Amino acid sequence: MDKIKRVKELNELLHKASYVYYGLDKPIMSDKEYDDLYDELVNLEKETECVLAGSPTQKVQGYILDGFKKVEHSKPMLSADKTKEVSEVEKFIDNRDFYCSYKLDGLTLVVKYKDGKFVQGITRGNGTIGEDVTEQCRFIKNLPMKISNKHDIELRGECVISWDEFHRINATLDEPYSNPRNLAAGTLRNLDLNVIRDRNLSFVVFELVSPTFTHKWDGLKAIEDMGFECVGRAKGTVENCVEGMQPDWYAYPVDGLIFELNSSELSKSLGATSHHENCRIALKWEDTLYKTKLTDIEWNTSKTGLINPVAVFEPVDLDGAITTRATLHNLSYIEDLQLGIGDEIVVYRANMVIPKVHDNLTRSNTWTFPDECPVCGGLTKIVKDNDTKVVMCDNPNCKGKLLGKLSHAVSKNALNIDGMSEATIEFLIERGWLTSIKDIYKLDYYREPWKEYDGFGNKSVDRLLGNIENSRKTNLMRVLYAQSIPLIGKSASKDIANHCQNDIETFYSLMYEDYNFTAIDGFGTEMQKSLANWWNSNSEEFMDLLGEFEFKSTYEVVVDKKLEGLNFVITGSLNNFGNRTELQNLIESMGGKVSGSVSAKTSYLLNNDINSTSSKNRKAKELNIPIITEEDFIKMIGE
Ligand SMILES: [Zn+2]
Repeated sequence: MDKIKRVKELNELLHKASYVYYGLDKPIMSDKEYDDLYDELVNLEKETECVLAGSPTQKVQGYILDGFKKVEHSKPMLSADKTKEVSEVEKFIDNRDFYCSYKLDGLTLVVKYKDGKFVQGITRGNGTIGEDVTEQCRFIKNLPMKISNKHDIELRGECVISWDEFHRINATLDEPYSNPRNLAAGTLRNLDLNVIRDRNLSFVVFELVSPTFTHKWDGLKAIEDMGFECVGRAKGTVENCVEGMQPDWYAYPVDGLIFELNSSELSKSLGATSHHENCRIALKWEDTLYKTKLTDIEWNTSKTGLINPVAVFEPVDLDGAITTRATLHNLSYIEDLQLGIGDEIVVYRANMVIPKVHDNLTRSNTWTFPDECPVCGGLTKIVKDNDTKVVMCDNPNCKGKLLGKLSHAVSKNALNIDGMSEATIEFLIERGWLTSIKDIYKLDYYREPWKEYDGFGNKSVDRLLGNIENSRKTNLMRVLYAQSIPLIGKSASKDIANHCQNDIETFYSLMYEDYNFTAIDGFGTEMQKSLANWWNSNSEEFMDLLGEFEFKSTYEVVVDKKLEGLNFVITGSLNNFGNRTELQNLIESMGGKVSGSVSAKTSYLLNNDINSTSSKNRKAKELNIPIITEEDFIKMIGE
């Protein structure tokens, strides 16, 4: 079956070389080499009848779905019985023929084939009813869309994201995913298929439901020969398997091992409980704990004035990553652990990603409360936030707060001022040019002196001031979110804005009459309190700030980052928008980007004349980038 292997190899090679995925300016091989490999793949696909979902020979274009259809499973999807004891596994196996496989940590899917073609993909859902993700599956790069075998085939497997992809994607996100499972789930359930196309999801088979083989091991082998990727597995003694299958040796995230009886007939005769089938047992790994010494507790002031503690400890190798710091969350957390510098603590990597302090073996309880803010030296106070105690800087003019507050105010989902980095804000605070959000809109006054400073040229200052000007056109949600009101995040700001029909006058008349926003679903009493507190001490400053903005109906589209990660190029004349800038602002307000020329990074070319032979259209076709009309776009954003 070397030909199937070559098909996979070619897929990988061509993906790597493709502009579309890696966004390379320079290709890693010549066009001739690419074409030769491409032709080889076309021929091999014909010969083996194995065509993977992401195959460069299959031009599938991304689009956006309306929602998910519910589907009933042909047989209920049960869990595996679990244990943390190897002896329990040995008792279960009881000298019967078995094999061991990794327990993948992703999203379980059922995929079905008819007449050699992929026909359906369904999520596990609640075990009885799942969601139809057939269209999404067409973008899972290693999932065959065509196979040589013409029987009805049903497979179970895990939709996962490899560690490599996890790190690559997270590096591009403002709010990284805490573990690969969440990323895989978030990606697969994305209705925007372009997102799935750009993130390398994998489908790894762990069970052949039909047809059945006498021995399951042989069934998986046969599936592999058709071009599927099957889970890493081994035979031998239980002990050998446990030792030989370590989590960090595998490309995909795993949270244990599955021990499965090999005989299909025996498995069937053992039956199932309502929870699990009796033919397998899962050995769950416990988080590996490591001892180290606490050398310091660091306190960092955030934009709200909250001072967050971080444990600093002697370097420890946490599952392959040298780690010296872990969050301590809040004061209560430190009190519970009775920490003290020099204490022997136990740390681990939760979900193999986030370092955490598990326990304190010494419990000297000699830690000291920071009575001064590490940034401004102002006095601190303890505040009770629900059931936990936190430390706050009490100085209203704290620079740490100001820096955090302004960095937040200019961020993408708030006022969205591109190029206003933390270092720049720090510089402007130092000069005394920035003391509030309103000051951002007065920076033009310093245009000339600003250009005299190292690191700021004519161009960069002009560009930044231009971006600041553009940010005046905004909407209520952005302006509210920019205020850093405790507990009022992006979605609460959006809720408030929607509740006020995005009308600023409505907003302040409601605020003046002490309107209760808890009428909004999910808007809690604590949020209400926080909003009211903020209004009491900031209403004047806020009203004053509003004079800087231009609230326009076209900019009041409050759709949450629907276009995030998408790059648009706009060309030709427009019918529904006044001009390109208007459309560009709308795209950017929804998290998308607009650039001037078509490149590998372009997600869509927006051109009302789809058949135009302009260079942009040609380039887009060449790079397999969808060309959409204004109408398509409006449908896409659901306006
Ligand atoms: Zn402070």
